[in-house]
Amino acid sequence: LYYRLFFLLLTLWTLHPKAQAQSAYWQQQVNTQIAVQLDDVHSMLHGTVHIDYTNNAPDTLRFIYLHIYPNAYANDRTAYAQQAVENGNTRHYFSNEQDRGYIDSLKFVVTNSQLVQKSAGYVITKNIDVIQLILPEPLLPGQRLQIETPFRVKIPKVFSRLGHLNQTYQISQWFPKPAVYDAKGWHPMPYLDQGEFYSEYGSYQVAITLPENYVVMATGNLQESAEQQWLDSLALSYRNHKPIYSPKDTSIIPSASTLKTVTFTEENVHDFAWFAAKNWIVENDTFFLDGIDKPITAYACYSPKHQQAWKYSLDYIQGATRGYSQRVGLYPYRTIKAIEGPLEAGGGMEYPTVTIIAPVRNGETLNTVITHELGHNWFYGILGSNERDYPWMDESVNSYYENKIAPSAFSITGRNNRYNDSYLAYAFAGSANRLEPSDTASEVYSDVNYGLDVYAKTPLLFDWLAAYMGQDQFDAAMKAYFDKWKFKHPQPEDFRTIFAMVFR
Ligand SMILES: [Zn+2]
Repeated sequence: LYYRLFFLLLTLWTLHPKAQAQSAYWQQQVNTQIAVQLDDVHSMLHGTVHIDYTNNAPDTLRFIYLHIYPNAYANDRTAYAQQAVENGNTRHYFSNEQDRGYIDSLKFVVTNSQLVQKSAGYVITKNIDVIQLILPEPLLPGQRLQIETPFRVKIPKVFSRLGHLNQTYQISQWFPKPAVYDAKGWHPMPYLDQGEFYSEYGSYQVAITLPENYVVMATGNLQESAEQQWLDSLALSYRNHKPIYSPKDTSIIPSASTLKTVTFTEENVHDFAWFAAKNWIVENDTFFLDGIDKPITAYACYSPKHQQAWKYSLDYIQGATRGYSQRVGLYPYRTIKAIEGPLEAGGGMEYPTVTIIAPVRNGETLNTVITHELGHNWFYGILGSNERDYPWMDESVNSYYENKIAPSAFSITGRNNRYNDSYLAYAFAGSANRLEPSDTASEVYSDVNYGLDVYAKTPLLFDWLAAYMGQDQFDAAMKAYFDKWKFKHPQPEDFRTIFAMVFR
């Protein structure tokens, strides 16, 4: 019955004057093409980025904020560096100059819709990883322009997300990228470890050139069939010879002298990350979801010394994809990948269609982390909320589903202590009178409370909301929220509106 009532309400709601005002929702379109070459001797990237920017706002733009996040690692006074010290992590602060990172060689050219090219200057804001690109002429509502610049990145050692450990590379938050402009205005934000991101949707086409014996895992779909065949052959040989695979250190595999270029494309995503290593075990498999006619290819890549923990990783990936697809909404992409890397920012980090997982000891923990990180394809990837200001909209809602899906998706023991762990953490913080409100911005939380409130307390609040609404109504509201806001930027009020509307 609630379904019928729900659809009736949905119809009535679209007739409501306030809802009609909301139909004027707009968002910017940002399509990105990058060509980049990895110099793995000096840990440098040499690239050019081409950004096709459409101004769908009712406002004229005279500048565009761009994030140039590798500069977060440039010195000990950046927002990232200071936050790390406040949170008790002094690795970057006391690091050597040569282990830090930066981006330089920017030289912007802007092309307007009449194909007139002009060079464009930029202003560095109070944060050296945020710049304001001054447009040579105003960008009117509905108009489009092309922004192009070369760039060079010195890849830091792994302090947070972007980085390398010897010749294993995690290339994320790495290229010049527009900040979001939405109905609330510009959202420039310096890179932080504690506090995530907010980005515009569009298509990506990224061509990566590097020595040919690297395996590359990235956002989106690989274009070269020869590279695809090579990955398939690696996966097949591991499947056939599993027990005899001997652990190798990445530092002792020399890089091939011949280079290759691998290209990845994806639509309807708001970021692009890639990861490369020479010693990964590669596993892959295809699977179908109810409601789609094309298979999804799952990849798991990890170092040989952790093959025991990763033994069932393809099952964890499939289980998470099915669980979120059933409970929230269908997975819309053709690939889903989990790779192991030397991450320092938490146990895992999500990017569209690809996620990086820090080394873990056992399969059960790995299942939990993979489920959580791949779940971010829904709460971050498809539902592109402002993570920095409203961490509950991605981390807390995602943790609520992780607690439900990870134990059932692929459980060795069938037990789930996550609920009890979360409650204990919540009760502990509460008894010490240290809780903070659930709608606190990421960087305002103390580091302890960021973990407690965002990942433990607030997921419990969603359990209580589900109990209060009834699980059926909660599920219906979440599906309605997904359908209305997929590939868009939902705000807290949009979430509340749908939940209040469905609940009767
Ligand atoms: Zn998360």
